[in-house]
Amino acid sequence: MTYRGLSIDELHALLVSKKVTPLQLAEEALILAKKDSNNAFEYIMEKEALEFAASLKEPEVNNPLWGIPFVIKDNFSTKDIPTTASSNILKGYVPVYDATVVEKLKEAKAVAIGKVTLDELAMGGTGTSGHLGMTFNPHDRSHKRLVGGSSCGSAACTADGYVPFALGSDTGDSTRKPASYAGLVGFKPTWSLISRYGLFPFAPSLDTVGIFARNVKDSAYVLNALAGHDDKDSTSSVRPIDDYAGEIEKINPKTKVAVIKGILNSISDKTVLDKFNETVKSLKDAGFAVDYVDIDEKILSSLFPTYFVISCAEATSNNANLDGIKFGPYYNGATFEDVVTQARTNGFSELIKRRFIIGNFALMKENQNDLFLRAQKNRRVIVDAVNKVLKDYDFIYCPAAPSIAPKVGEASDRLSNEYLIADNHLVIANFAGLPSITLPIGIKDGMPFGANITGRAFEDKQVLQMAFELEKHTGLKNLVAKGE
Ligand code: GLN
Repeated sequence: MTYRGLSIDELHALLVSKKVTPLQLAEEALILAKKDSNNAFEYIMEKEALEFAASLKEPEVNNPLWGIPFVIKDNFSTKDIPTTASSNILKGYVPVYDATVVEKLKEAKAVAIGKVTLDELAMGGTGTSGHLGMTFNPHDRSHKRLVGGSSCGSAACTADGYVPFALGSDTGDSTRKPASYAGLVGFKPTWSLISRYGLFPFAPSLDTVGIFARNVKDSAYVLNALAGHDDKDSTSSVRPIDDYAGEIEKINPKTKVAVIKGILNSISDKTVLDKFNETVKSLKDAGFAVDYVDIDEKILSSLFPTYFVISCAEATSNNANLDGIKFGPYYNGATFEDVVTQARTNGFSELIKRRFIIGNFALMKENQNDLFLRAQKNRRVIVDAVNKVLKDYDFIYCPAAPSIAPKVGEASDRLSNEYLIADNHLVIANFAGLPSITLPIGIKDGMPFGANITGRAFEDKQVLQMAFELEKHTGLKNLVAKGE
């Protein structure tokens, strides 16, 4: 019997009826992890997983995560387990504490199987820039296609069925874009709903914990376990949380959905557009109001540059502690500057250095007004435009990406609207802190592609309800990569 590819619900039923034990599930997940051909693992937690799983004896009927295996993006702090953020500068770093989300999943008795790859320090969207090299998309066994990033390992392990869910993070789209490329549900909840204590900061005004699963309800189970205030994260919300899974079927029949025309117009792939419009029709046929609305194209094409300036600036200051003294290997040198220069020169790849240079440049006194503050002001313009749409509509609904997962080296024209808008619009939800979910809507050349639903802040429950409804229309859930 194999449990590969089963959902949380299915595994829970087997666990509760004692047809399988947490230990058996952990053993199989570990075998799959060891045989992994996606280059998805930084560290396999064999000993820890077996020990913990063996300690779980009596099934908890009302706890859907009891005994369920999962993987953790390697930018979450894990006590006594090496954590690298897929960067050479953190090679050998072993944290002394667990991130709150890791602790919460431990309390829920879910079983961590391993730490998985990312684009270095979560800065990237391809899954190719981590220190172990590229992570492959399991839907293409020839290893020619990206799985996307930065949460590449989380996406690969979930799509390949090793585990039913994974922890990721999302600063611009790092959960929702790989979810589109890998046929998964990728959820970025409202900023502050989940504690980020122990998540390595990239750009904290945008950073959110992300959840990967293979169906919408499974994502809601995980959110139930993770949401809520944490004294260790002063930015975490004190609002009461909802029962996201329990109320998933209670969608408001008067729901109104907005499709942003400028995003659709920037996509050239006919299959993606046709399939997307088909889902719109299906939602309309079911009685939901769906309108095509405008956001000024100038605002849409400013998303990426604005994101890049803000995220690089924040990344620069937040990663200043990776200096070979506080964190990272110590190099002998005559001066402080010499020590830091050696650690950072050897520790970071070119891509990261480029981001830090851009960030520093934007933060320089003489450039701040023209770059950093201008980007901040434009962020406000973007957020106002989005919130204006969300005054009249409950959700914004759009294709998550302009295409299926690109092939390695398939470069897009970075000044085209397709790149600036269709490839980067998911960042809207980070700018405004909104709950945002991607789920599969179609398949082309054997590769899945997804659409995205974004709702109002703290309406995570409603976003999940809408996604659950859409999932019924597409019939695409529990997708697992074929072969191997
Ligand atoms: N792809 C985006 C970037 O490269 C988003 C990264 C993220 O969400 N962590 O910055």
